[in-house]
Amino acid sequence: MFIAVYPGSFDPITNGHLDIIERGRKLFEKFIVAILRNPHKLPLFSVEERAQMIQEVVQDFENVEVAVFEGLLVKFAQEKGCKVIVRGLRAISDYEYETQLAVINRKMFPEIETIFLPTSTEYSYLNSTVVKEIARFGGCVKGLVPPVVERKLRERFDTFR
Ligand code: ADP
Repeated sequence: MFIAVYPGSFDPITNGHLDIIERGRKLFEKFIVAILRNPHKLPLFSVEERAQMIQEVVQDFENVEVAVFEGLLVKFAQEKGCKVIVRGLRAISDYEYETQLAVINRKMFPEIETIFLPTSTEYSYLNSTVVKEIARFGGCVKGLVPPVVERKLRERFDTFR
């Protein structure tokens, strides 16, 4: 089976991520959205909350699976039988970091390839950090994130107000 893994922090998932998922899933039999459990980062949402939001967003996509991984991505990919890592590219500034990762991953596991999907232009400015900053100060994130995320952000920041 031709399986791809799309890894990231997804703290939280944005419409930019969703765009990559919608387009990427058409290229593979199975598309795994893999959330990195990173002990060095302090996230806004727990891995479980992030997984729940993504699950809700992708529930109608029958070939998309949501998973959590820790440690080396290539190891996780190998365990899942994935041959392809999908990453999204927003700007040329993403390119340097992303190619570095891709080269290192291929050095470890040459049989796994990384492919890049360019962002749709309307999401080229969008990332999870920007969304969190807007929501933190009471701004409107409609159109930037799926409705479930909008709701969760409001809940989270209302608690602190
Ligand atoms: P990381 O913490 O590794 O940057 P993210 O969750 O921010 O993980 O992103 C996961 C993947 O989604 C990365 O490949 C990133 O380039 C891509 N991505 C994030 N935002 C967008 C966007 N607006 N358009 C296209 N790709 C995006």
